[in-house]
Amino acid sequence: MAKVGIIGGSGLDDKLNLTQIKRRKLHTPYGATSDLIITGKLQGLDVVALPRHGADHRIMPSLVNYRANIWAMKELGVTHIIATTACGSLREEIKPGHLVFIDQFIDRTTRRAVTFYQGMEVCHIPMAEPFCPQLRRLFSGVAAELNIPHHDQGTVVTIEGPRFSTKAESKMFQMWGGDVINMSTVPEVVLAREAGLCYAAIAMSTDYDCWHESKESVTFELILKTMAANAANVHRMFPEVIRKITDWPCDCRKGCNINSL
Ligand SMILES: [Zn+2]
Repeated sequence: MAKVGIIGGSGLDDKLNLTQIKRRKLHTPYGATSDLIITGKLQGLDVVALPRHGADHRIMPSLVNYRANIWAMKELGVTHIIATTACGSLREEIKPGHLVFIDQFIDRTTRRAVTFYQGMEVCHIPMAEPFCPQLRRLFSGVAAELNIPHHDQGTVVTIEGPRFSTKAESKMFQMWGGDVINMSTVPEVVLAREAGLCYAAIAMSTDYDCWHESKESVTFELILKTMAANAANVHRMFPEVIRKITDWPCDCRKGCNINSL
């Protein structure tokens, strides 16, 4: 049986319209999750949800306990994770309000715990295709059906933050092939793969980052405004996508093949 876990980013917390909601604390070997774990039903299907930055958005990206969050999802029987993340756009054609179903990342984080395997066991997990291709195609199909502006693939640059990029950095990331930029996809996607979970990320474009000469510099207020529109589109997609998720065979599910998780 497939079970879906939703890790909500900025602008998506507490708006999932779940029924039979329960909130529970889960102890993990890595400490506390970002908030109480929410379990409930979405159109009759069991769903686990967690706000990545805490319900009141108090946890900055560098301090999110990614390992505890993913471990908790695994412990509760989740097989597929849908993660949402607010992003800046590095491409003219990815306009604020567009969704990007990302298929690659460039890791510019510097001080995060990036693996479950730091002890006696070592895991060199393949990362050529970090995101679940089947889950990504499902989102593309549903977005097309619902006429939601979207991009079927894209590369996200995850920076450490909490500051935004300089213009020089932003232009460098463009040259590297980055399409959107955020602060949270890595190491979340990596840990999900180690745990053998299918993981898809919906990047919600909120602004043009600072490379775009005609725009004012990025502000949190500007981002919040576009975020509300993005969240509405994502919520339209969730029931349609979740209904179509099955326990499909997938390379993501191989994980590290080590018994310590
Ligand atoms: Zn998969």
